[in-house]
Amino acid sequence: MSALMPKASQATQRFIARCAQDCQGVFAGLEEVERANTAKVLGAFQGHDVSARNFAPTNGYGYDDVGRDALGAMFAQVMGCEAALVRPQIASGTHALALCLQGVLRPGDVLLSAAGRPYDTMEQVIGMTGTPGQGSLKEYGVGYRQVELTAAGELDIPGILAALDGKVRLVLIQRSRGYDWRPALPVEQIGQAAQAIHRANPRAWVMVDNCYGEFTGLQEPGDVGCDLMAGSLIKNPGGGLAPSGGYVAGSREAVDLVSYRLTCPGIGGEVGAYAGSYQPFYQGLFMAPHAVAQALKTAVLAARVFERLGYPVHPAYDAPRSDIIEAIKFGAPDPLIAFIRSIQAASPVDSQAVPEPWDMPGYEDPVIMAAGTFVAGASIELSADAPIRPPYTAYLQGGLTYAHGYLAIQGAVQSILDAGLATL
Ligand SMILES: *Cc1c(COP(=O)(O)O)cnc(C)c1O
Repeated sequence: MSALMPKASQATQRFIARCAQDCQGVFAGLEEVERANTAKVLGAFQGHDVSARNFAPTNGYGYDDVGRDALGAMFAQVMGCEAALVRPQIASGTHALALCLQGVLRPGDVLLSAAGRPYDTMEQVIGMTGTPGQGSLKEYGVGYRQVELTAAGELDIPGILAALDGKVRLVLIQRSRGYDWRPALPVEQIGQAAQAIHRANPRAWVMVDNCYGEFTGLQEPGDVGCDLMAGSLIKNPGGGLAPSGGYVAGSREAVDLVSYRLTCPGIGGEVGAYAGSYQPFYQGLFMAPHAVAQALKTAVLAARVFERLGYPVHPAYDAPRSDIIEAIKFGAPDPLIAFIRSIQAASPVDSQAVPEPWDMPGYEDPVIMAAGTFVAGASIELSADAPIRPPYTAYLQGGLTYAHGYLAIQGAVQSILDAGLATL
């Protein structure tokens, strides 16, 4: 065991086991979702006659790359969409989201964020913050507005409609809580908003930041009428196996527009070779419903454990979920940092590393992160992040196996107890 991962006392082990017992009913519900999503994914594999030829590397322009094209079609099907781009070369979730905005929005258009302030890294893409001269949407003459969530953390549909004039071309809805203390938005609620938006302004497309949301429920945004969505392959839909990449899915028209930004006008999605094997992307998609279920079980256990230790958690262990994140409010820097360091110490990779707060590109406050992952930065693997700002909230996510999540949570509790920061 890592020198930094303390051995759990009998009392700690009993405490964690009791908490896990409390979660059994919730786990049964998560297993049902896993089965339904596995059936959906399996249907996509079988419907596209996946065989060894799909995994083969390609080179040059990559015309007629069956591995790339079938993977796109399968993602489209699973996400309830007409089309998708699934590419190792999309560098991150932010890149996938930025491609959507840049592909659809034109000078004079307005982007409306309907779930309040968007994810930190999107602020510089939009031009809300950041260094002028980098080509943000603002510099290209794209306007921006936002509508806050209601006090209950729901989409404010009347407020969205009031902000929806003819200039609004894209309404961005972030499904996940991201780094905020708010519920992840249920897909059904996103669908209700999409319907109302389309009725009020048919020119406005609804785009979902689907990062961390995939396979947490029975439906995806495409199933409820959203026009465009994007996410990262080193989060949920890569199943812990995809080595890099992102995806964009949506209507044929919307995805085509994004494809002209991904490559260039006139060429779009027809090119893009990958000299590595596509096999981990396919296998990752196959594993994704299971990996997400393992991550959700880890989040549920963490919620129960830290709630019982006296820390506010969000969501509660038995609340509905629409993303894989568990937010834990530590109220002070010491237990927060002890927690993050214990997650690192419990990792299979880089367990000896001691996380320190740092100024991460794209983020406004220093961030401390635990990410002892096989795929660098993959947050479907057990990881935790925290911006260093009051009220010192840690965001825990991922966990390829529940057993690993369990051990890591047990270690974190022991560290916090050993430091005298909490009592059982
Ligand atoms: C992770 C994430 C992003 C950005 O993805 P990166 O891969 O970190 O660039 C955007 N939005 C949400 C909600 C996310 O969770």
